[in-house]
Amino acid sequence: MAQVLGIIGGGQLGMMLTEAASTMSDRISRVVVLDPTEGCPASLAGAEQIVADFKDRDAIVEMSRRADVITYEIESGDSDVLESVADRARIEPSPATLRVIQDKHAQKSFLAENGIPVPDFVAIDGLDGLRAALEKFGYPALLKARRDAYDGRGNCKIDSPDGVRDAYGRFEGRPMMLERFVPFVKEVSVIAARSTRGEIRTYPLVENVHEENILRTTIAPARVPDDVAERARRIAERTMGVLKGAGVFGIEMFVTGSGDVMINEIAPRVHNSGHHSLQSSETSQFEQHLRAILGMSLGGTALKTSAVMYNILGMRGYEGPYCSPDVPQADGHTFLKMYGKKTSKPLRKLGHLNLTGREGQGTEHVLERLESIRARAVALPARGPQGR
Ligand code: AMP
Repeated sequence: MAQVLGIIGGGQLGMMLTEAASTMSDRISRVVVLDPTEGCPASLAGAEQIVADFKDRDAIVEMSRRADVITYEIESGDSDVLESVADRARIEPSPATLRVIQDKHAQKSFLAENGIPVPDFVAIDGLDGLRAALEKFGYPALLKARRDAYDGRGNCKIDSPDGVRDAYGRFEGRPMMLERFVPFVKEVSVIAARSTRGEIRTYPLVENVHEENILRTTIAPARVPDDVAERARRIAERTMGVLKGAGVFGIEMFVTGSGDVMINEIAPRVHNSGHHSLQSSETSQFEQHLRAILGMSLGGTALKTSAVMYNILGMRGYEGPYCSPDVPQADGHTFLKMYGKKTSKPLRKLGHLNLTGREGQGTEHVLERLESIRARAVALPARGPQGR
């Protein structure tokens, strides 16, 4: 019998999950999302919406009354509240998995205990402890808030002893950790899925380019030697084997100059670096997530074509209404997806552009096409109506 799907968070990830659910009507009859913004992207795709904060206990209880299975598109949900409703609705990935991932220190400890490579790290308790840890790690190093940090907003790079007090002040009162700086040559990620039956599949390694800590471009497949891609795949599979959560996970990694691969962080949800899969892959990450949490067999993960995903971000220094970019899409290899957000904010994710390779074309060709579209397109990144 078809089930009701609940999603905590109704942003673009919830929107694309809702769209995937609508193609699986024999398995999912309705989608209910919980999101504080009325008219959130997922509701525009047909989800019913409970308008409330992600951590609102009553709203989560209400969702557990309405949904058979609950998943999430943000990792900041309250795992205790989710656990308390687990007898009413199945929660996937489980609150126990979420709890490990939500705390960056618990996440890295868990990975290190399972022999999975991560940068050196240590929990920080007080300014003296920070100074002692910096003496060991050297400069630069990264001070990170352990919880509720995303898009790099919980990180502070400490370059010299002069910056220690300021960095500490930024996170004072919150649990913190210090990480050794990794002089990586590439940031890459693996989208991995594990079903409730324990089946594990990984997507080919992709390469991610960030600007100001926000993902700007994903290149699929990553331009790395085969042995590096294989190392990353094995790390992702091992991670999924020990984590035991069901669903799609985004596993972000660093590649060093000597070809070492280590995990930076894991997102327990569909991931921005998997958006290319909508057009490039045998199964999109959104359908895969639903297959995984509904106990279906997983779909194929092979790339059908090379692909590049480019995030459409709000202009710096501008907040207000905006125009969608003007990108011709008639060639069958250009796909613009806007999320229907009402206002633009600096660097807000407003949409993305997926470009796939034509027959036999590698990523370099696709990147050249992206450059020519960027040169021609009006409002890319998204600008205000007067081109501000
Ligand atoms: P995070 O929010 O922890 O994923 O970090 C955001 C960005 O900061 C990453 O995408 C990296 O570019 C950078 N970063 C995080 N940790 C480290 C590290 N240990 N060494 C070097 N760069 C890092």
